[in-house]
Order: sequence, then structure tokens, then C-alpha cells
Amino acid sequence: MRESHDVLNPATEEVVATVAATSPEGVDAAVAAAVRAQRGWAALAPGERARLLRRFAAEVDAHLEELAALEVREAGHTVGNARWEAGNVRDLLEYAAGGVERLTGRQIPVAGGLDLTFHEPLGVVGVIVPWNFPMPIAAWGFAPALAAGNAVVLKPAETTPLTALRLAELGLAAGLPEGLFQVVPGAGPVAGARLVDHPDVRKIVFTGSTAVGKRIMERCAAQVKRLTLELGGKSPNIVFADADLERAADPMAFLDNAGQDCCARTRLLVQREVYDRFLDLLASGVRAVRVGDPADPATAMGPLISAVQRERVRGYVTPELPVVARGSAPEGPGFWYPPTVLAPDGPGVPAATEEIFGPVAVVLPFDDEAHALRLANATPYGLSGSLWTRDLGRALRLARGVAAGNLSVNSHSSVRYWTPFGGFKQSGLGRELGPDALAAFTETKNVFIGTEE
Ligand code: ADP
Repeated sequence: MRESHDVLNPATEEVVATVAATSPEGVDAAVAAAVRAQRGWAALAPGERARLLRRFAAEVDAHLEELAALEVREAGHTVGNARWEAGNVRDLLEYAAGGVERLTGRQIPVAGGLDLTFHEPLGVVGVIVPWNFPMPIAAWGFAPALAAGNAVVLKPAETTPLTALRLAELGLAAGLPEGLFQVVPGAGPVAGARLVDHPDVRKIVFTGSTAVGKRIMERCAAQVKRLTLELGGKSPNIVFADADLERAADPMAFLDNAGQDCCARTRLLVQREVYDRFLDLLASGVRAVRVGDPADPATAMGPLISAVQRERVRGYVTPELPVVARGSAPEGPGFWYPPTVLAPDGPGVPAATEEIFGPVAVVLPFDDEAHALRLANATPYGLSGSLWTRDLGRALRLARGVAAGNLSVNSHSSVRYWTPFGGFKQSGLGRELGPDALAAFTETKNVFIGTEE
């Protein structure tokens, strides 16, 4: 029996498509094809590989609206976001293509010969992708992996396989060799697990929950398999009294993608003397966020991905937690949840410590810089964070003090394809994106050539 997954439109609950789930044998066949394709790919002239990746980028660009519309339907992303996401895939491919001819080794001085280093491709790379940003997160893995001379087998999330499948078709249309970039939709514990355990898959790039990431790390240990993990977050937004409060209180810092963002600033830490003023700004900002049809360009926030996710989110909003700001959400079909800000008594409640992955934030007051830093770091996560102050020294002290991989000062931005991204502590392992992205998909080989007679 062949299993399949229904892909639902989260804004309507209608079935958008039914996608066959890949069996373990199907994954094995994909990996075998990838092994064959990779040999030819790595042997191509670097300029030729770069040219094919640029063509792939051009195909993505030519189908940007189609990809964006697909992401609106399968993931409920707002159309503005979905366009950005498809554009991000194009940009990543172009950026990675620029690295192919620049993946140079070194010549190191030695006596009696010549010493050279090579960046060898790993072979086949398995990329396991979550449902929150199906296109960008896939491309963070596949673009640099392909550019560095690897083949890629990609396992999208059960709920969002459609854009990944389309991207693989566009890769073929651009002229990528058959088997080089394949997508194996299916269940995490079946298709995903087989990819992790397959001996010919030399590296796993996993983005998803910390719990599954830990399990994958254990499985990779059995083969000393290379691994990049991009896991959960519970990122702070630290706001000092001297800050630009209007900008610091932008609710989209935790509501973008309905809060289903590992970088979402869901712990609002606010200096006590501006706490009330900040809450006023936040509450009116939250009320003004337009929640509704994601295909409408005026919409700021769409639905959650699934009924299961909405139940998870609901579970954190317990009756004893005071709600200090609440937005709206449509009635009727669709996995809607209104933007919500909670003000717990202290930092210990689950809503303040666990990743909710929905449009829910907590706000907590702090007294001084030391207190802010203690609160910011009192979590096993360390992915992102925003720091708001006009005091440059304090901004720099905190930027160095907060244990997180991606911080922004007087800004809520965090991800650019040309700067490194990844987590401290239990938010991850390794880095993606940025100038070293290709190196993460290579092994360094050192060769000494004797010249003595
Ligand atoms: P999320 O909560 O964002 O869905 P998960 O960690 O559950 O995060 O899933 C992220 C990705 O990992 C999905 O593609 C999922 O199918 C896959 N996955 C889940 N369990 C496993 C597993 N045991 N082995 C490999 N991949 C898995």
C-alpha cells in the first residue's frame, strides 16, 4: 500500500493536493540516483556548474508568482511574504553560483615539497525541511550544497511538500542533471529517518524542532555523519527606556508568519519605567494587525499551518495568564488564532520558556542591564534577539553578552542570505548562509607532494 498525505489550505481547510509518501525503498532509490549524478556533477568545470545554477535561479525567477501562489495555498503565507520567499531561493542560487569558482584551496609552505588543500564535496547531502518556511529553508541547504559539488535529496515537511516538488522540476528544466536534486516527500519518521540512516548520505541538514533534532543527532553519531541543526528559539526583544519605543514595539517582530518563525521575538523584556507606555504601543499595534485571507496583499498575518499547531498554541494560553493585548482573527474555516500578548507573573511559566510557534508573546519587566541580560539568557535556546537602546556602549555590551547567534540592534531583522545564521546552545549546531556557506558542504583534504630527488 502506498501512503499519501493530503495537503490542506490552512486558510480554508480545503484539500489542495494529495501527495504520495516516499517509502524507505523510495529513499534508497533516490540516494542511489544521487550518488551517480554527483560524480558527473563534481567532475564538471566549475564555470559550467555555476552557469547551471544561475539558470536554475532564472527559472525560479520566471516562476516566482506561481511559486508564491503555491506557498499561499499550502502554507497560508501572506502573498507578500511568499513572493519574498521565492525571491530568496533565486537570490540564494545566484549567491551560491558565485561561490563555485571561488572555492579555492591553499598552498601552505613546507620543506621538501608542495602542500595543497582541496575542498572536496561530501557526496550526497540530505536536507530535511520544516513547514514554516518551506522554500527558503530548503534553499539554504540545497543551493550551497549543489554549488560545492554535492547532490541533494530533500525531504520537505508532510504539510508543505508542493513548492519543494516544483523547485525540483524547475531545476531539471534549467538543465541540472537527472538525479542531482531530488525531493522525497513523506513522513519524518519514515522517509526522513531513512535519509538520516542511509550510509551514502554524508551530511544531514536539519531544520525543525529541538526534540527531533536531538534524535537525528543521535542517529548521525552512529556513522559520524556530518550534521547541521537549526532548531527552536525563544528570542528576546530587550527594550530600554531610552529606546525608540514605537519601533521597538512593532508587533510584526513576533507576528510575522503568524509567529511560526524560529527567530520570532516572543519574549518582550521591557525596562520597568517604560513598561506601561510600551504596552500601550504594543496593544494598539497588535489590534491594528490585519489578520485574514493570505492571498490579499493588504493582509499582515494569515492562519496557522494546521489544527494540531493551533491546539499546541492554545495550550500555552492558560486562564491564569493575564492577556495584555489581543488582536482579531476570522471566524469559520481555517486554522486562525488571534495575536495575543501575555503578562505572566514571572519568567518561569511554559509560555515564557517554551517555543510556542504561534502569534503569542510574553512581556516581562526588568530593572537594569544586568537583570535584562539574566532574563535574556535564562533559556536553553540561543537563536536571535533584538536590543533597543540609544546607548552605544550598552548595545555593544549586550550584543556580546546575549548568548545567541543572530542579534539585531535597533532593528528586528535577522536573516540575510549573505550573513551567517545559526544558533547557540540548544538552538542549533553549525552555521548556514553567509560567505562560508559552501565550506560547510565540503571536506578539507590536505595533499603533500614531495619534490626531493
Ligand atoms: P515541526 O514541529 O516544525 O514540524 P519537526 O521537527 O517535527 O518540526 O519536523 C521538521 C522536519 O523533520 C519535517 O520534515 C519532519 O517530517 C521531519 N522529521 C520528523 N521526525 C523525523 C525523524 N525521526 N527523522 C527524520 N526527520 C524527521
